[in-house]
Parts: sequence; structure tokens; C-alpha cells
Amino acid sequence: MLLQNKQIAIVGGGPGGLTLARLLQQSGATVKVYERDLNRHVRVQGATLDLHDESGLAALRAAGLLEEFKAHYRPGADKLRLTDKHATIVLDQHAEAQADTFGDASFRPEIDRGPLRNILLDSLHPNTVAWNSQLASMQPAGAGWQLTFQSGAMAKADIVIGADGANSKIRPLLTPIRPFYSGVTVVEGSLYDSAQNAPRIHELMQGGKIFAMDDSKTLVVSAKGDGSLAFYTGCKTAETWARDSGINFSEVAQVLAWFRQEFAGWDDIWQELFAAETTHCVPRPQYCMPLDQTWLAQPNLTLLGDAAHLMPPYAGEGVNMAMLDALELSNCLASDQFSNMQAAIAHYEAQMRQRASAVAGETLAQTEALHSPHALAHLVDLFAGNETAR
Ligand SMILES: Cc1cc2nc3c(=O)[nH]c(=O)nc-3n(C[C@H](O)[C@H](O)[C@H](O)COP(=O)(O)OP(=O)(O)OC[C@H]3O[C@@H](n4cnc5c(N)ncnc54)[C@H](O)[C@@H]3O)c2cc1C
Repeated sequence: MLLQNKQIAIVGGGPGGLTLARLLQQSGATVKVYERDLNRHVRVQGATLDLHDESGLAALRAAGLLEEFKAHYRPGADKLRLTDKHATIVLDQHAEAQADTFGDASFRPEIDRGPLRNILLDSLHPNTVAWNSQLASMQPAGAGWQLTFQSGAMAKADIVIGADGANSKIRPLLTPIRPFYSGVTVVEGSLYDSAQNAPRIHELMQGGKIFAMDDSKTLVVSAKGDGSLAFYTGCKTAETWARDSGINFSEVAQVLAWFRQEFAGWDDIWQELFAAETTHCVPRPQYCMPLDQTWLAQPNLTLLGDAAHLMPPYAGEGVNMAMLDALELSNCLASDQFSNMQAAIAHYEAQMRQRASAVAGETLAQTEALHSPHALAHLVDLFAGNETAR
């Protein structure tokens, strides 16, 4: 095996990096994951994730973790209510009989990010993850790399995999290609105890998701297993809007004042999201990697997940692509089909870029459609299975 006697460093313990660590350890490889979070108990923020049969779930199946997933996913959390700005429901999956289940191609079970991370962490050998290890820089060292962390600590590795997300420190060592702005900026937020702090929205969510679309703007709200909710607004803005707006996003009253103005004419119910002092908001301009990006394969360095192919969230593919990258990369590295590491990495990267570009193209089209005046009709068509809506 190409990986025999090789020390592999995975930088980033997100879903992509941890899935890869598990799959490589199953093949007998020596793996260390370097993660900037202080420890495994740091609360993992963000909306729930739906895993797709052909990608996220396929990776978990290969990792022998599907049963663990079944024990921790949230049945019913995938059910969606689509509304207009008045909170009038135009499509209600809660009213539909549950048809799909595991094994059905269209079944997309939801899991919170924290439990998914725990499943993956618990599957790794003890001390696989070096917490509080934020990569600061990396230098070639012999045939491998020397990694230097923010803390001043250092480590060596024969092969490095950059799974360090949207602002990857490793990506520039492979390519100068940068992402472009998609035209949409998200304000992401989370709110504890939605039953208490946002009772009307809590009732509307029914433990699932709300997609509210109107006036070429979007609002996505999802219930989480700990009683909190996560949400994100989406608006077409200039790339520098968040910086230029003068809004202090850590002051929820300022965000509410912006929301009232930007979403004028929307029902008061939505303002519940910004009513609790504990609501925590972060603006996130949405970027996408160029669809024709390419770079020369190296013998000791590669990327996966958002570090390789960042895209907006509107097709729900980011985590699924990251986990499928992990599956395909581990298959290539553990295969005896390739004469050397560079050939294995080149094969992985070529198929990964091609697949991710196709998905990113669909995602950009979806991002545009959801932020158009016809968003509601578009989504209704999409859920009705009308392919022309895609
Ligand atoms: C608002 C929003 C909603 C989304 N909704 C969905 C959705 O519904 N479905 C979906 O599939 N995707 C969604 N996504 C996208 C999804 O979150 C990402 O595509 C996915 O998490 C990518 O996984 P990853 O492992 O590549 O990177 P990440 O999840 O970003 O993980 C990267 C890890 O690397 C660590 N790290 C970063 N820098 C360093 C460093 N220098 N040194 C060490 N560690 C480092 C980070 O702490 C993190 O743990 C959404 C994204 C956003 C912003």
C-alpha cells in the first residue's frame, strides 16, 4: 500500500477531515488530525445537515458508521415548510406521509453538526486528534512537510491533506486560484430554547425546517436537537456590504433594526429571531470556487471539502461533497492501482474537481433562482419533481 510507513496529517477536523481520518485508519494508515478548536466540547454552530444517499451516507456506510448515524439522526427534522413573507404556508411536508427511508435514493436524513462530529470522533483511535492546533504555516521538509501551529508547536508529516474549510491555509500552497463572490450575503444566527425565545416560529417549524422566500430574499430556519434553532437570511448585496453597513453584528438590536428595514413588509413573526439578547449573528458573504479551476497534482499534498470547492449552501451539498471527497481520496490512497502517491492524488483530484464543479454549477443556479422574484414558484416546482425547475 502507498501509505505504508507514511505519516499523514489532516489539517481540519470538520466532517470532511474526520471522515477521511476514519476511512484511512480502517485501511491501517497512520493519521493525525490537527484541529484549531480548543477541545471536542466546543459547541459546533450552524444549521443541521441533511446527508445524501450517494455521498454523505455512502461515506458513512464505507466507514462502518451507518448504524451510529441511525442512532443519532433526527427523524422528521428533514420535513420542510415553505412559506411566503407573510408566513403563509405554500408547501407543507409535515402533511405528507413519510415515504422515504434508509436505502431510498431520495431519503435525506438530518443530523446536527455536533452529533455528527461526535460519531466520527468516537470512531477514531485514541489521541488521533490534536486539539488547539491551528496551523499557522507549512514548509517543505525533505519529501514531506513541517507544520507550524499558532501555539508555536511543530509537527512533521509525509503527506498533508488540507481539510481546513473555506479560508484554508493550505490551499495557497497548491493553487493561487481564489473563490469569487456569489452575489449573496447570509446573516447566520442561532438562538437557544426556541420554544421560549421564538414561540411562534418554534410552532411553525414543527421540529423541521422553514424556507421563507419573497422579494428576492430568503430566510432558512432549522430546529436543532438541543432545543435551539439555527437560521440564515440571504440577500443580494455588494461583496463588502457587511463591512460597509456599519452594523455591529454582535449587537442583536442593531441586526434587528437592519432586518426590519431590509425585510420591510415581512410578517412580524420573523422578528422573533432577533428578539432574544442571546441571539448570536455572523454575516457571511457567500463565495464559490471557479468551476474550471485546476492545479498540478503534488506527491504529498491535497485538499478536500470547502478548502477545495467552496460553494454557497443553497443546494445542501457542501458537507456531502466533503464526505464523498474523503471516501474517494481514501480509496485512491489505499488502492494498489497507482504506481505512486502523485498518480493516486492526481486521479482523486481530477474526479473531485469534475464532480464538485457540476454540483457548484447547479448550486449557483439555485442560489440565483432562490433570490429571484420567482423563488416560491421555482421551489414548489422543484419539490413537485418538475425537472425544468432545476
Ligand atoms: C450558513 C451555512 C449553511 C450551510 N448549510 C449546509 C447544509 O444545509 N448542507 C450542507 O451540506 N452544507 C451546508 N453548508 C456548508 C457546509 O457547512 C460545509 O460545506 C462543510 O462543513 C464543509 O466541510 P469541511 O470538512 O470541508 O470544512 P469545515 O466544516 O469548514 O471544517 C473545517 C475544520 O477545519 C478547522 N480549521 C480551519 N482552519 C484551521 C487551521 N488553520 N488549522 C487547524 N484547523 C483549522 C475548523 O475549525 C473546522 O473544524 C452550510 C454553510 C453555511 C455557511
